[in-house]
Amino acid sequence: MKKFLALLMAGLMTVSMAACGGSGNEAAEGADEAAADGAKTYVIATDTAFPPFEFTNADGEFVGIDVDIINAIAEDQGFNVRIDSLGFDAALAAVQSGQADGVIAGMSITEERKEKFDFSDPYYTAEVTMAVAQGSDIKSYEDLNGTTVAVKTGTNGADYAKSIADQYGFTVKEFKDSPTMYQDVIAGNTAACFEDYPVMAYNVKQGAGLEIPEGTLAAGTDYGFAVSKGENAELLEAFQTGLANIKANGKYQEIVDNYTK
Ligand code: GLN
Repeated sequence: MKKFLALLMAGLMTVSMAACGGSGNEAAEGADEAAADGAKTYVIATDTAFPPFEFTNADGEFVGIDVDIINAIAEDQGFNVRIDSLGFDAALAAVQSGQADGVIAGMSITEERKEKFDFSDPYYTAEVTMAVAQGSDIKSYEDLNGTTVAVKTGTNGADYAKSIADQYGFTVKEFKDSPTMYQDVIAGNTAACFEDYPVMAYNVKQGAGLEIPEGTLAAGTDYGFAVSKGENAELLEAFQTGLANIKANGKYQEIVDNYTK
């Protein structure tokens, strides 16, 4: 699947680069070429549907806290961004393979990931929660005994579910993206899913057909912007400076409030 995505991306890149007269195989390299205004363009990979951080709104625009933060920082620091909405594990893989320069995808800063990525300072904090279909009998981890639980590949929530699976006697099934995972739970194929709380709360509020049982919050993590370890230090530096600036001038809070109030 990863291979297929990589091929697909390579194909898309070739088309887009041919269109602008560029050449070369590396997307990030192509995009690093000076844009018309002389500013550098960075390819930033992200998730597909992870509201309020990244999602397509009713007008068909790709928006969210992460999207607005990276755009605000780009403006503050004078660089251009091209946002590639790839899916969570695909976004991380794209950065690892050099097809993207950085990732902003509600990505939790973890010790394990620090072996492969350099992270910015935290820009958001989120816990993991369980969610079930509206009206479900499942009210606690204990009720998961003998069931199958849905998680999203490569996420913190997946790791958390796996870490308690034996203890509570459930099996874990992986999905590529959050909407597919939710649908499986709503359809009753899986008993529950694990997801970052702000994302689950946003979806519940939007009428996703899911609910959050009380007392199932766990494992708080900080979100960070990341680049591949030892690569793109300049971009990471610009992100850090830009983040401090948009926090100081109120832009950061304005963005967060815009999606959470
Ligand atoms: N915060 C979680 C993680 O980093 C989930 C991120 C996501 O699904 N986009 O694993």
